[in-house]
Amino acid sequence: MNGGAQDAGSFDWIVVGTGSAGSVLAARLSERAGHRVLVLEAGGMDRNPFIHIPAGYTRTLNGDAVNWRFEIDPEDYTHNRVMPLPRGKVVGGSSSINGMLYVRGNARDFDDWAQMGNRGWSWKEVLPFFKKSERREGGDPAFRGGSGELSVSDMRDRFDLTDDIIRGGEELGYPRNPDYNGALQDGFAYYQVCQKAGLRHSAFRAFLKPALKRPNIELRTHALVERVVVKDGRAVAVEYRRGDRLERAAAARGIALSAGAVQSPQLLELSGIGDPEVLQAQGIEVQAALPGVGENYRDHYMVRKSWRIARPVTFNEKSRGLSFAGEVLRYAFTRRGLLTMTPGVVAGFVRTRDDLAAPDVQYHIVPASYDDPRTKALARTPGMTIGTYQTRPESVGAIHIRSPRADEQPSIRGNYLSVEFDRQALIGGMKIARALMETAAMRRHVAFEELPGSEVQSDDEWLGFAREAGFAIYHPVGTCKMGVDPMAVVDPRLCVHGVAGLRVADASVMPTLTNGNTHAPTMMIAEKAAHMMLKEERP
Ligand SMILES: Cc1cc2nc3c(=O)[nH]c(=O)nc-3n(C[C@H](O)[C@H](O)[C@H](O)COP(=O)(O)OP(=O)(O)OC[C@H]3O[C@@H](n4cnc5c(N)ncnc54)[C@H](O)[C@@H]3O)c2cc1C
Repeated sequence: MNGGAQDAGSFDWIVVGTGSAGSVLAARLSERAGHRVLVLEAGGMDRNPFIHIPAGYTRTLNGDAVNWRFEIDPEDYTHNRVMPLPRGKVVGGSSSINGMLYVRGNARDFDDWAQMGNRGWSWKEVLPFFKKSERREGGDPAFRGGSGELSVSDMRDRFDLTDDIIRGGEELGYPRNPDYNGALQDGFAYYQVCQKAGLRHSAFRAFLKPALKRPNIELRTHALVERVVVKDGRAVAVEYRRGDRLERAAAARGIALSAGAVQSPQLLELSGIGDPEVLQAQGIEVQAALPGVGENYRDHYMVRKSWRIARPVTFNEKSRGLSFAGEVLRYAFTRRGLLTMTPGVVAGFVRTRDDLAAPDVQYHIVPASYDDPRTKALARTPGMTIGTYQTRPESVGAIHIRSPRADEQPSIRGNYLSVEFDRQALIGGMKIARALMETAAMRRHVAFEELPGSEVQSDDEWLGFAREAGFAIYHPVGTCKMGVDPMAVVDPRLCVHGVAGLRVADASVMPTLTNGNTHAPTMMIAEKAAHMMLKEERP
């Protein structure tokens, strides 16, 4: 017994969380045969069938069986609405419930990280880690990986509406991009997806599940980590609760937190690592004063616009009645069709101003419209939706504990649209979306603009619509920022400043958002973390 906790063994490495990062990191660490690795996950196994059928996304997004279902605090900037922040609570973490879109970001994102003092994180230096994870057929081998564990495939179906919107992009001068994860990000293309033969390929399925065959790695599920035990400035063990038992596992070489951008900072604070004022307010003894823990929270804020489509060729009709029965059969026999679809079908990366060095707006385009875009409940009439977000926002929020318990969600303040720069980029992006639907390629499909409606014209009206209708789009990062400044939480080797034997490796270490969705760069971070950890261990 250890202060009330039962001894649960000792290991070389302990990894907390099996999400996009934790699954990659634990699997790679276990490749060193002599090392014993323990992986702890608060959720259970991925038995829920809606995880694996891609269109099941809409079910796991709203249900609570495999989802932490966090909520973002209401704020003036976004009309005091409570916004949801879903996170996967299951093996695979958010990679088991996400939209499966595979987007690495822009080369400049990583060059900027390096420029901030993060040596080793430039595009040239991170590219090999993106390639290492990936199994993709085709593509330029200078950029794409062919022999990794994660299957990155193309959409298994195409539609007139989505083919035409790519043509519409060309009419406006945006290129049709053969590979937005290759040499150039700009332009329009079908999304690349983390699917294998029409099923979701989560980080758990791709990396950790196969690694569990090794004798030196153990996964414990339903294990909610409550704190890291720090002794004389070194992280030595973790305490976690399984049912009503508190257990303690010790780590000889190190502990890595991969609990994600909401819960990695929460765990640091619960362990006495953070801003002393925040810790003391909850009666937690300070082990290391690190004012940056939980600060620098960034997320993409998406606004969806929709159009009524004149001819019924959208997901709205395919998801009803006999058509839907046909789609179910089609999926059962061919693993194609509506059930393989993701919440973005066509990607667009555009610059809202000519003087920009990289795209500043991204689109998720779907031949579908929703009664409630948040829950993804489809409307009864045919429609098309363009979700728009600014990719590199400067609006910054914070995530901090408001209780000393690991099972109570921290406070999440987003501050979306608090900075004028962000507002202007988003307004520019929404106007381009409208222009896309007015091109010759798209005009023939469109009956009328449903949301926001043609009466919205001035910048103030666009902004009012954005504040009222937008949502955080589930890409939280930055709360355990990597860097060398006083607000940094981890150094460029991902070691927590001031605490030996403790690392953070997940989306929370990104100092800024990448130009795109965050699953691919999070796996890259874990690949690089494992590489650095194993390299340091060489005699
Ligand atoms: C609904 C949704 C849609 C998205 N769509 C896309 C998309 O299409 N493309 C894309 O690139 N990105 C997408 N994202 C974002 C992307 O999935 C995340 O950025 C990425 O998965 C983050 O990985 P992570 O390892 O940091 O955290 P996670 O994958 O969230 O993993 C954290 C893990 O830690 C576990 N955990 C947390 N606290 C504890 C604790 N105290 N004890 C034990 N275990 C704990 C959690 O249960 C979880 O398994 C989406 C996310 C969501 C939620």
